[in-house]
Amino acid sequence: MIHYKTDEQIELIRESCMLVSKTLAHVATILKPGTTGLKIDKEAETFIRDHNAVPGFKGYNGFPGTLCISPNSGVVHGIPTDREFKDDDIISIDCGSYLNEYFGDSAFTFAMPNVSEEVMALLVATNESLYKGIEAAKVGARIGDIGHAIQSYTEARNYTVVRELVGHGIGKNLHEKPEVPNYGRRGNGPKIKKGLVIAIEPMINLGVKNVKQSDDGWTIETKDGKASAHYEHTVAIKEDKTDILSDHSIVVDAIKNNSEIKNISLKK
Ligand code: MG
Ligand code: MG
Repeated sequence: MIHYKTDEQIELIRESCMLVSKTLAHVATILKPGTTGLKIDKEAETFIRDHNAVPGFKGYNGFPGTLCISPNSGVVHGIPTDREFKDDDIISIDCGSYLNEYFGDSAFTFAMPNVSEEVMALLVATNESLYKGIEAAKVGARIGDIGHAIQSYTEARNYTVVRELVGHGIGKNLHEKPEVPNYGRRGNGPKIKKGLVIAIEPMINLGVKNVKQSDDGWTIETKDGKASAHYEHTVAIKEDKTDILSDHSIVVDAIKNNSEIKNISLKK
């Protein structure tokens, strides 16, 4: 069943999501070529605990990190490692927190300074598709409308949509009903009602849509080894609007102030 949230519960989820956003903004201040996922992960864990919260992913199904760090062909669920980031890497970072007994969830794909124009265009389109999905998420619409918006926007640009991993309801649990696929048909799926809180998270590939489990037992990566991008917001459906509970604007601002990573012109 779907757990619809009250306005008070939505505000508590917002606090958790804002801590996630602040953590991603903090990550954006320290990310650079030569640093490692393990270092970034440690900083993120300290940051979250310093704000009287608990990392939302750590220990979830045995996941070892605070952040999922998935470089280049990594789609999601990458474990932080001691591999040094290269100057042409893209790094997808997914962060969760548990605060006020509610989870927050948001993800962002960062770019190192020498990422190709081709891959930068993938990042921009994936980010854009997130907002197409959010626009479709409103009272009276259906979950399939969200996936349809994301799929049609990205496939029109010759990118592909990962099928095996989807967005989700969120609240007292990290993953709640309903599933929110990034593909779908208009008018299909559960009706979107007031009080629904969902994480919308397009995972979009440069090459084939197919993915595989990597040898580390965690990372999901593209089957053809080409780049994949991932942007995620947690949103609440209100009667008159869709309220974005996480905040990428502070992440984008932090990127602008970090001369060691690429400044991406993205919707916030
Ligand atoms: Mg996430
Ligand atoms: Mg999520």
